[in-house]
This record gives sequence, C-alpha cells and structure tokens, in this order.
Amino acid sequence: MRSISIFGATGSIGESTFDLIMRGGGPAAYRTVALTGARNIARLAEMARALNAEIAVTAHEDCLPALRDALAGTGIATAAGQAAIAEAADRPADWVMSAIVGAAGLVPGMRALRHGGTLALANKESLVTAGPLLMATAAKYGATLLPVDSEHSAVFQALAGEDKAAVERVIITASGGPFRNHTLEQMQAITPAQAVAHPNWSMGQRISIDSASMFNKALELIETREFFGFSPDQIEVIVHPQSIVHALIGFSDGGIMAHLGPADMRHAIGFALHWPRRGHVPVERLDLARLAALNFEAPDPVRFPALRLAREVMETRGLSGAAFNAAKEIALDHFLAGNLSFLAMSQVVEDTLARLSCQNCLQIVATTLEDVLGMDHLARKTAAEAVQSWQQGM
Ligand code: NAD
Ligand code: MG
Repeated sequence: MRSISIFGATGSIGESTFDLIMRGGGPAAYRTVALTGARNIARLAEMARALNAEIAVTAHEDCLPALRDALAGTGIATAAGQAAIAEAADRPADWVMSAIVGAAGLVPGMRALRHGGTLALANKESLVTAGPLLMATAAKYGATLLPVDSEHSAVFQALAGEDKAAVERVIITASGGPFRNHTLEQMQAITPAQAVAHPNWSMGQRISIDSASMFNKALELIETREFFGFSPDQIEVIVHPQSIVHALIGFSDGGIMAHLGPADMRHAIGFALHWPRRGHVPVERLDLARLAALNFEAPDPVRFPALRLAREVMETRGLSGAAFNAAKEIALDHFLAGNLSFLAMSQVVEDTLARLSCQNCLQIVATTLEDVLGMDHLARKTAAEAVQSWQQGM
C-alpha cells in the first residue's frame, strides 16, 4: 500500500489532492502518514479521521488544544508549530504533496526529499527561493521531484520522450487575470476583493492575487528555469485568456507541442499521483467545438512589471529568488492589510531588490538552506522598510 503525506492539506491544492485520494479508495488504498494545516482545525481533523492519518499538524501552537480535542480517542497523533511540520516531513512517505503556500513550504519539502520518495511540488516558492539546492537534494537522495503547477506539469508532459537539446523555446501561458484589460489608471484603485476574483481558476487567496498582478507568472518563469534548466531567453510567457493551453514547447524543426486541459488542478495533481502511469482523473473533458476559439496575446510589461523583475532574477540567480519571493510576500501582506496599493506591490519588490543589490548579496550562491532562510529574513526586513518609504513618499 502506498504511503502519502499532504503538507497544506486544508488549502485549495490540499483539498483537490484529498479529493483524488478519497476517490482512489481513501484509507483502503493509501496509508496516510501526515496531514498539515493552519487555522482550519475542524477541516484538518475531519481529513485526518477520513484518512486515518498517523499525525495531524497545525502551524499554530494556539490551535493545538482544539486539534487535540477534535481528534481525541482516534489514536491520531497531533502537534503544532513550524518545527513540528518539519518533523512530520521526517516521517517517510512514498508520495508527498508539498502544498503549503509561500516560503513556509520550503523546509518541509527539503526534509521530505531525504527519504528518496516522490515529492509532488505545488509550492513553487521552493524552486524560486532555493532551486539549485532543492534539485541537488532530490538528486543526492534519489528522490523524484514532480511539478504540480499546471504550466510546469504541462511542460513536463510535453517534454516526455523528447530530446531536450532540440528544444528552442518553452512558452508558459497566463490567463491575464481579472485586470487583463484594465488601464493603468483603473489599476490604481484595485482592492483585495477585486484582485482575489480569478476568472478561470479557483485557488487560495494569495496565489489568486499573485495571478492578478502577474507575480504568479513571474514566480513561474523562475520555476521553469530552475526545474527544467532552460536559459532565460528560451522561456516565454503568452497571455491566453481561456486557460486551456497550459504550456507549449517549440522544437528545432519548428514543431510545437502544446498541452491542453481543463482549468482544474486535479489534472496536474492526478498526473503526479499516478506518474509514471496515466490514471483515471475525474476532470471535465474538453468540448473543443464549444470552446471554438483559443486566443493569445503578448503580456504588457508596463502594467505588469513583475515579469520584468522575474527576468532580472532569472539572470542573477544566487539568492535573488529568495529575496524576490520574500519581498513579494511582504508586499502582498501590506496590500491585504490595506497599507499598499495594488501597483505599489511591484515597486516595493523592485525597491527591495535594488537595496539588496547595493549590498552585493543577491548573486551569492546558496550552499545551505540557512543561506536561503537568512536572505528570506533580510529581504522581509528590507521590504518592510521599502513599504515605509513608499508610504512616506505618498
Ligand atoms: P491555500 O492558501 O489555499 O492553502 C495553503 C495551505 O498552506 C493551507 O493548508 C494552509 O493551512 C497552509 N498554510 C498557510 N500558511 C502556512 C504556514 N505559514 N505554515 C504552514 N502551513 C501554512 O493555497 P493554495 O492555493 O492551495 O496554494 C498552495 C501552493 O500551491 C502555493 O505555493 C501555490 O503557489 C501553489 N499552487 C496553487 C495552485 C492552485 O490552483 N491553488 C496552482 C498552482 C500552484
Ligand atoms: Mg500555475
């Protein structure tokens, strides 16, 4: 029986993973090791009971009594805090879903790789902040890393059986988000409630807002570079409002392989769950005649500066991805709190990168996880200062 763990089980990706595991037989077909969540204790406990998990872990110490109560008498162990989440990743499992949002997903993913099983990676921030370390750790322990981001799953699928040396270009698609046709002036007044309403995908709050600002696509450019090893000038973004084509690979003979599928993350999760086979996944089957048209347009670098910043990070590499992601997370926190406008998020990230690049620390190559976490910490502090300067300048 295959053993599994889900980090970030109560989130959007976590729920979709749970759905596939339950449809695939639940506890009769899978032995569940660890499930983790944050404040949604009722749901975490419900999932742990349904899968008869070994342990359920909440990120927050103050939620532990509620989790203990909810699981009393079940024999399911409970724990709380970031260290407990990392320890849960030390429990071996054959297949681990990494679906915590943000840089918090890095440590558990790195720890899980040490068992040499399969890490299904939804947490793109792991690759953005620590790509070379993550890939080297997977190689060192003989672990399999599978992309779960829809575009990267699509690239992975379109590359199967192909000669990577014959790849000229990799094109990932972006829906364009809810503000695809907004003018810069209209974009000044965007609220978190507007930014969270994605036209095609149902996702967590943070990634939805990142999609609206194209910071999500910026992270995905870096993710493509780090996961597949293509050079920055080979990787392109195209806006495709229908979100049906997820990625395209252009080869040296002019042919292009495209991956199409419904905008339902269960396809990419199911692909990673069944890999290297193809299993049955209960997503909608595309009706091409009803779709009728698939449109493509170039992204606008003026209204979406995150893409330009990502290009700089792809060139610099080193610790710049960790700085970029941390600054983006701080800017997003301030946007959600109403302290920062939608457009100011990218200014804060740019300002943070500029401040850190003056200190010549962005190009330093991380040799340990501590190097990455150190930059994450420094960039959060620097970004908070950048937010303050921005507010004073208003
Ligand atoms: P979400 O916000 O819906 O869920 C996040 C999960 O992480 C929840 O279980 C939450 O309890 C947990 N969590 C939040 N903060 C935490 C912390 N500090 N420590 C420990 N756990 C914490 O997010 P999501 O949309 O499911 O996205 C998860 C990851 O997958 C992100 O990295 C995102 O970029 C990536 N991803 C998501 C989608 C999607 O469709 N939702 C698509 C591609 C990639
Ligand atoms: Mg994606």
